Amino acid sequence: MSETLGLDPLLLEILACPCEAHAALEVDGARQLLVCTVCFRGFPVRDGIPVMLLDEALPPTTRDAPGPQDSAEA
Ligand SMILES: [Zn+2]
Repeated sequence: MSETLGLDPLLLEILACPCEAHAALEVDGARQLLVCTVCFRGFPVRDGIPVMLLDEALPPTTRDAPGPQDSAEA
């Protein structure tokens, strides 16, 4: 059974990354993020609502080493 971060599984199914690939997302339970399966950006979930904005996305990182990367890239 996979985690959903409290999100509706049906919502997770229809959500797509706002990147060019419009790829599916998978739940990263450890970081409480939705992670794109293509560009690997991480999208936070706030108050049970996924924030699907590229401006808000965490830059792609290796999952086990979230380094102190500067995400101020516009
Ligand atoms: Zn993406």
